[in-house]
Amino acid sequence: MAAELIITISGMRGIVGRNLTAAVATEYGCAFGTFLNRNCADNGRSLSVCVGRDSRPSGRMLAEAVADGLCSVGIDVVDLGIVTTPGVGIMTRHLKCAGGVVVTASHNPGEYNGIKLLLDNGIAPPARLAGQIKEAFLTKDFELVDSVSRGRTSQNDRTDAVHIEKVLAIVDKDSIAEAKFKVVLDSVNGAGGRVGVKLLEELGCEVVGVNTEPTGQFAHEPEPTRENLTGLCEEVGRANAAIGFAQDPDADRLAIVDEGGRYIGEEYTLALAAKYVFSRCTGMAAANLSTSRMIDDVAAQAGCEVIRTAVGEANVAEAMIDNGCVIGGEGNGGVIDLRVGPVRDSLVGMALVLGLMTEAGKSISALADEVGCYYMNKVKLKCDSEKIKLVIDRTKERFTGARVDLTDGARFDFADGWLHIRPSNTEPVMRVIAETKTAEATRKYIDTVGGIVKEVLG
Ligand code: MG
Repeated sequence: MAAELIITISGMRGIVGRNLTAAVATEYGCAFGTFLNRNCADNGRSLSVCVGRDSRPSGRMLAEAVADGLCSVGIDVVDLGIVTTPGVGIMTRHLKCAGGVVVTASHNPGEYNGIKLLLDNGIAPPARLAGQIKEAFLTKDFELVDSVSRGRTSQNDRTDAVHIEKVLAIVDKDSIAEAKFKVVLDSVNGAGGRVGVKLLEELGCEVVGVNTEPTGQFAHEPEPTRENLTGLCEEVGRANAAIGFAQDPDADRLAIVDEGGRYIGEEYTLALAAKYVFSRCTGMAAANLSTSRMIDDVAAQAGCEVIRTAVGEANVAEAMIDNGCVIGGEGNGGVIDLRVGPVRDSLVGMALVLGLMTEAGKSISALADEVGCYYMNKVKLKCDSEKIKLVIDRTKERFTGARVDLTDGARFDFADGWLHIRPSNTEPVMRVIAETKTAEATRKYIDTVGGIVKEVLG
């Protein structure tokens, strides 16, 4: 992982004390606030911004520092405390704030933290506006105000309640409650435990909480992948539970473990959630180009279509809003339902999956078997951006019969599956993802690209 401070369209991420300090956070707050004052004039009234944080020990320091920066350019701050990333998006819109800030490094290890920015619609700024914020930060182009005009800070502890109410409204709460599911929830000591347990209890579940205290001392590596969730798998078996859920520290991603303690994984989350939504309504879905074909199959069964977007939550969210999609998200366990908010939301994922289990009257393993019959493989290959273009050109020559989408790197669609090659935004590597119905065919696509990379790099 890169050691330098990374600034992308959704914010910044770095290692606390090395390149991400309180001083950096304050200047980033000044830059974001200056940008908002220039772009969201409200008849001279001062603007406000929600600030929330995940449970990392550095969170309070960085959140206070960002707030200080915002106040020093005249922005009022609503301090939400320890809350989830989707929670900040919801409160930004609920309180009609000009923007939101989440202090989180998402699924990255404990030494990292980050500052994520949201506009008034709850979505990360589009690239052009993100560029303006970055420029203001790098050139220290801040419009500081005097002590009288300084922004004020207030506290708001309503995030969980507002969030839960919105999630309960998208499912049939009473019928889920009748099923009396036993659920194990692993929140990796992040921000999602408290609100996650409360939501599940509202849905009538018997909840076995694992790592649900928001201490920020992550009990295992925080990314909700198979190798990090062996403890959850064991606990589901021990508790004889119907399902296990795992959140990442800011609770926008959700992975699922079945009743037999088998890690189903994150790719299934969106497909299963979509299956429930499509059982109750029709409309379009949106997913990024690296997301499994399971979503296409589920949509097709309902006579619906899927819009594919570039990788990145904001791209999916914008496509959903533009096309009025009823469901969307990313294959990393990120489910978006616009009725709750345009942000990936593990609470939405949990409620929709429990809704599906209730409605179908089937176990989660049976439902997963129904939607899943694919083998996906992801690899990361060292290759700089100039060479990646060459790799893509040669891959096109190799697969002349494929349908090619160049929205984000290159995605090749074949009769038996697909292959996506895309450069990383933050490191000199390319990601190669393939999916077909057999492990062998998937491996073949990956190996073909691996061979082309070797040729290109000499
Ligand atoms: Mg996250």
